[in-house]
Amino acid sequence: MKDYIVRAIAADGQIRAFAATTKNMVEEARTRHNMSPIATTALGRLMTGGAMMGTMMKGDNDLLTIQIQCGGPAKGLTVTADSHGHVKGFPMESQVELPLNAQGKLDVGRALGLGVMSVIKDMGLKEPYVGQIALQTGEIAEDLTYYFATSEQIPSAVGLGVLVDKDQSVKQAGGFIIQLMPFTPDEVVDRLEKKITEIDSVTQMLDRGLTPEQILEEILGDFGLEITDTTETRFHCDCSKERVSRALSTLSKKDLDSIIADGESIEVKCQFCNKAYEFTVDELKEMR
Ligand code: ZN
Repeated sequence: MKDYIVRAIAADGQIRAFAATTKNMVEEARTRHNMSPIATTALGRLMTGGAMMGTMMKGDNDLLTIQIQCGGPAKGLTVTADSHGHVKGFPMESQVELPLNAQGKLDVGRALGLGVMSVIKDMGLKEPYVGQIALQTGEIAEDLTYYFATSEQIPSAVGLGVLVDKDQSVKQAGGFIIQLMPFTPDEVVDRLEKKITEIDSVTQMLDRGLTPEQILEEILGDFGLEITDTTETRFHCDCSKERVSRALSTLSKKDLDSIIADGESIEVKCQFCNKAYEFTVDELKEMR
């Protein structure tokens, strides 16, 4: 089954909602970056949130980047998504290991620790939009909820989950974002808030094998849910040798000279997808 995102409205358009299944995307990220379960879970949650947030943008060339810089052993995460469901991402530390938390779950919050989350939206304007928050729990869904509330002034409920199998592969991944539009009557807000406290966690819903449609039905079934759109989503990196060579051109002349003096071609990997590009000594000389 392919990964996809559904978009929906409820309560006569006063609620908008997104839900996604992202198992293949997160599994591809895991294998490309050779990630430990906790790194897979952290990056997988952020990629799932990013995938849905990417499709909130309207322009064909709009680009969303979510960057976490943090003091915990995970050090940081970067995810980029476009408006067509293409998502890529990488962890600063792919082999983080920590004991399970008090609930017996992978301790993503401790892996991230204190830090900052930046949301950068490049929508073709002179300056990109940048929203920044301090990490609240480091569990990512709560941090995105806080981001929506403070930077975009949109009351939201965000649920993100990644289930890792015994062999460390991704068993399930997905999530939802539910947002209240301005001027939603208090009655609807109260009912929704109550409902959110009653539902299973995303991880539980994924474990039960619910599809994105069923996840939304479970939360918004009593609110006149209407699925309006479905978008395929996947891990996709648009790197090229030329793009990767830009990273080399930021080296100082001295460093470049020393690589050339070694007389051997070098391999440079794309940060996002780990694809290796080879540069010969002649090519390196041209960059001086
Ligand atoms: Zn790449």
